[in-house]
Amino acid sequence: MNRNEQLFNRAKAIIPGGVNSPVRAFGSVGGIPRFIKKAEGAYVWDENDLRYIDYVGSWGPAIVGHAHPEVIEAVREAALGGLSFGAPTEAEIVIAEEIAKIMPGVEQLRLVSSGTEATMSAIRLARGFTGRDKIIKFEGCYHGHSDSLLVKAGSGLLTFGNPSSAGVPADFTKHTLVLSYNDVTQLEETFAQIGAEIACVILEPFAGNMNLVRPSEAFITALRTLTEQHGAVLIYDEVMTGFRVALGGAQSLHGITPDLTTMGKVIGGGMPLAAFGGRADIMACISPLGGVYQAGTLSGNPVAVAAGLKTLEIIQRPGFYEQLSERTGQLLAGFNAAAADAGITFSSDSIGGMFGLYFAAQPPQSYADMTRSDTDAFKRFFHGMLNRGVAFGPSAYEACFMSAAHTPELIEETVAVARDVFADMAA
Ligand SMILES: *Cc1c(COP(=O)(O)O)cnc(C)c1O
Repeated sequence: MNRNEQLFNRAKAIIPGGVNSPVRAFGSVGGIPRFIKKAEGAYVWDENDLRYIDYVGSWGPAIVGHAHPEVIEAVREAALGGLSFGAPTEAEIVIAEEIAKIMPGVEQLRLVSSGTEATMSAIRLARGFTGRDKIIKFEGCYHGHSDSLLVKAGSGLLTFGNPSSAGVPADFTKHTLVLSYNDVTQLEETFAQIGAEIACVILEPFAGNMNLVRPSEAFITALRTLTEQHGAVLIYDEVMTGFRVALGGAQSLHGITPDLTTMGKVIGGGMPLAAFGGRADIMACISPLGGVYQAGTLSGNPVAVAAGLKTLEIIQRPGFYEQLSERTGQLLAGFNAAAADAGITFSSDSIGGMFGLYFAAQPPQSYADMTRSDTDAFKRFFHGMLNRGVAFGPSAYEACFMSAAHTPELIEETVAVARDVFADMAA
């Protein structure tokens, strides 16, 4: 038995499924998860001392590359000054000012420790601000694991959702309406019928949790127009896309200003840090100013803030996103050509440092579309790449991430590996 197998068995005896977040268990691709020993730049090493070119990037945070020396130094320095105070610090103001400067829709914000907390708090805030209960989310968008968001679509247009997880009372999801991503007609009909009852609409402004799915311009425009007309809060969940698809997130690319924005992943630079923010009049409803309660023992943790601040500094250096996009483009051009040469049905898409690989002729436009892609082909691709030293997320429904540490040479190496894998798949 190799060390990954030994550790997986040991982990399963003490941690349910052997993992602390389900996708890590390789359930949808099969096989043994790689236990990671260390990471640096574009690489991770597993417990068998095998090295992988990593396109998971801790699911997005590692945009400047793993263990960037400047980030590590900032963390070390902060840690020497104490790990947590439970009191306000100057660094929290600095990072809040920095985020507000970068994110078009953010006038004020509050720091939390996970994306789940950010979206849960933003929804509570939207409900408190509007005095309404109902919320709209879209099928295939993930917003963390708070109760009212673990929901699947009901059977008809205006039937509210059913829990998608055991342990969530139906009462907790009965105010959540699940609509289809990119379906403008359905959105219009819903607002026409119950617009005055809707507290907020939350979406991933480029979806990254059903693989990468791009919104149409009509969909984005309708979202902003309808929420404005009906007094509903528009929440952009930019936990994944913020500082990832572009410095100013999806909202800077859409030219749309959401009322609230949730952020996470990149802003912590690999440490537990997230945030929600937006219009100052809405943010004023948060405790201690307003009646919407929200709190956190470790919120604004000084070590996490130090990692985040240094990461934000690095990504604002000239040319950072141009280079990231170029590298993503280089990788996908290579993959597209290699798949075509092997006769594999394949397509891809990218926005900034985030990309999607699809075993389908066209990139999907909705969750239903995505379910029609060839997940068996993905499994073979995934294991073929992993066995040859290239790591992607262990599910066909995940987006992939480029970092500044992925050099053109490493990308060429990745493409050469993909060429072998596609050829094997075709044989
Ligand atoms: C990752 C993610 C979350 C949840 O963040 P956690 O830090 O894992 O709780 C929420 N929304 C989106 C869009 C995400 O990608």
